[in-house]
Amino acid sequence: MNAKRPLIAVLTGAGISTDSGIPDYRGPQGLWQRDPSAQDLVTIGPYRADPEVRRRAWRLRLETGALGAEPNAGHRALVDLERSGLPLRVLTQNVDGLHQRAGLAPRKVLELHGTALEVQCLGCGATGPMAEALRRVEEGEPDPDCRACGGILKPRTVMFGENLDPEVLGQADSIARACDVFIAVGTSLQVFPVAALPYDAVRTGSKLIILNAEPTPYDEAADEVIREPISQALPALVRRLVAEGL
Ligand code: ZN
Repeated sequence: MNAKRPLIAVLTGAGISTDSGIPDYRGPQGLWQRDPSAQDLVTIGPYRADPEVRRRAWRLRLETGALGAEPNAGHRALVDLERSGLPLRVLTQNVDGLHQRAGLAPRKVLELHGTALEVQCLGCGATGPMAEALRRVEEGEPDPDCRACGGILKPRTVMFGENLDPEVLGQADSIARACDVFIAVGTSLQVFPVAALPYDAVRTGSKLIILNAEPTPYDEAADEVIREPISQALPALVRRLVAEGL
């Protein structure tokens, strides 16, 4: 008898957090469609070169208040999945920290694009809490600099024009190859290298389940495609997987 329990890998994208009020910037109704210059705010070249871009970026971070977002039923469903005892790893493209905030153990979450809850210095690499940097903006510093070296601070996220951390990507790839079920939730699966993960999972024998509002390039290869809203469909899927012991 094989006592090994099936490993479940869940890849999450912007779609799981839209019900928490965090906009999908890339989506059809996204900010970048309405205001293409807003893309500069999350692109490393303009961000590094232009203090005005940074000032706009800090103001926007302050105004959108994404740090105050609450997890929704989709995030909580993955906590239920973890508590069921099935081995689980969550790979997320989101930088909002909502999986951990919902109660998922941080070691179960791999943040592919970093986290917006922390800042990092472009000069010395020092990191610190985003909340503290935003407090400095509120108190009148339009572009708070690194306390250690005076360098430029940015969110500890992967901006456009930056590469994903190769170590994090390597871990994600190992998980995709090792898992028995790969579930892609709220992600268009169109942006590489993350879009290669379901391919690696399927190639090494994993089942593939896709939950996304829009079609993805992997729908044909998937064992199951679910189009219903994530905050309803994901809890239902988790209940079914737990009932099946899978
Ligand atoms: Zn520094």
